[in-house]
Amino acid sequence: AEVWQSVPLAPPDSIFKLTAAYKADTFEKKVNLGVGAYRDDNDKPWVLPVVKKATQILLNDESLDHEYLPITGLAEFTSAAAKLILGPDSPAIKEDRTVSVQTISGTGANHLGALFLSRFYHWNGSPKIYLSNPTWANHHAIFRNVGIEPVDYPYYDPKTIGLDFNGFIDALKNAVDRSVFLLHACAHNPTGVDPTQEQWKAIAEVIKAKGHYAFFDCAYQGFASGDLDRDAWAVRHFVEQGIPLLVCQSFAKNAGLYGERVGALHLVSVDQDTAKRVKSQMSVLQRSEISNPPAHGARLVSLILNDAGLFEEWKRDIRTMAERIKEMRRELRRLLAEELETPGNWDHIERQIGMFSFTGLNGEQCRLLTEEGHIYLTGNGRISMAGLNSRNVRYVAEQIDRVVR
Ligand code: PMP
Repeated sequence: AEVWQSVPLAPPDSIFKLTAAYKADTFEKKVNLGVGAYRDDNDKPWVLPVVKKATQILLNDESLDHEYLPITGLAEFTSAAAKLILGPDSPAIKEDRTVSVQTISGTGANHLGALFLSRFYHWNGSPKIYLSNPTWANHHAIFRNVGIEPVDYPYYDPKTIGLDFNGFIDALKNAVDRSVFLLHACAHNPTGVDPTQEQWKAIAEVIKAKGHYAFFDCAYQGFASGDLDRDAWAVRHFVEQGIPLLVCQSFAKNAGLYGERVGALHLVSVDQDTAKRVKSQMSVLQRSEISNPPAHGARLVSLILNDAGLFEEWKRDIRTMAERIKEMRRELRRLLAEELETPGNWDHIERQIGMFSFTGLNGEQCRLLTEEGHIYLTGNGRISMAGLNSRNVRYVAEQIDRVVR
C-alpha cells in the first residue's frame, strides 16, 4: 500500500471554512464577521500610509541586499520592538537582561517561547500551560506540538458577558507553585474582555506570591485602545513587580503587516549573564527551526520604530483603526439597545476591546444569522468588529434583533 494511505483527513480550519462559505455566497448584503483582520469603512484591507511611506524608503535604498539576517533577527528591529512593549525606560532593558529574538509573527513567537520552555523550564510536575477559557484556538496546538499540555483556567463568564475574575484568581491560587500561565496582554481573543488595571494588579500579586511564570501573548498593542502605552500596561506592571515573564509580540494587526510575518519574542530575565545564556539557546533553537527570520517586514517596522517622524505617523494610523472599531462598537450598541430595543443588555459590545466582541449570541442564533441573514461568524458568538462598517452595521443589528426575538 502507498505509505500515506492511513493519513486521516483533517477538518478544515474553522475560520478558513467560514471565509470560503462567505466568498461563495452571492447575496448582495452578505457580511463577513469571521476573520480577524482589519478592514476600512469600504470593507477593504488597509495598507497603513506609514507603511506605504516606509516601503518607498526601502525601495529607494540602494544599500539593501537580500543577504541572510542574523539568526536572532535584525538587531535594530528587535531592540526597538523591546522598547515598544516594555517601555523606553524599562529597567529590564537598561540592565541589559532582556532577550529579544525576531520571530515569524506572533505565531512564531508563541512557538519559540513554547519550545524554549519545553526544553529549559523547571517544571513542577509534567509540562503544562494554563490557557484562558476560551482562548485563541491555535494556542492549544502550539503547546501540544512541543509536548506541553494545555489546561484551562476560568476567564469568561457567560452570565455577565465579562471577566470571571474570582474564578481566574482561584485558579491562580490553586495551581501548584511555579505554574505557567498564558495571559493576553490586551484585547483578549476571542472575548474582547480584558481585566481592569486594578484587576491586573491583583492577578500580578497572586502570580508573584505563587512564583508562577507569565507567558504574555501581545498581538494587538495599540490596536486595542489606540494607545501603544496603555495597551502595554499589564506587561510593564508585571516587569516592575519582578515577575518572571516572556512576551510574544506581533506586528500583524497594529502595522497591518499580516502576510509579512513580523514579530518578536522578548524574555525578561533576572540578570545580564542569564540573558546571555538564554539568548545563546534561543539561537540554537531558532537555527534548527527557520535558520534566519525574513527581512522585509522587519526592515519596515524598524524604519517606523526608529524614526521619530514615522513613529508619530504610525501612532496616527493606529488611532485611525482603533477609533473606527470603537465607533462601530458604539453604533452597534446604540442600534440594538436604543433604536431597535432588542431584548437583553448590549452594553458589553461597547465595553469590550480590540478586534473581537463576544456577543453572547448562542449557537442556534449564530446559525440563523448565517443561514438566513448571510452574516458569517463563528458558532461561539464572536464577531470581528472590523467586518462592520457604516453601510452594513444597521443590517447586522436588524438581523441580530430578528434572531434574538
Ligand atoms: N495571538 C493571538 C491572541 C492572536 O489573536 C493572534 C492573531 N490571530 C496571534 C497570536 C498571532 O498572529 P500572527 O501570527 O499573525 O502574528
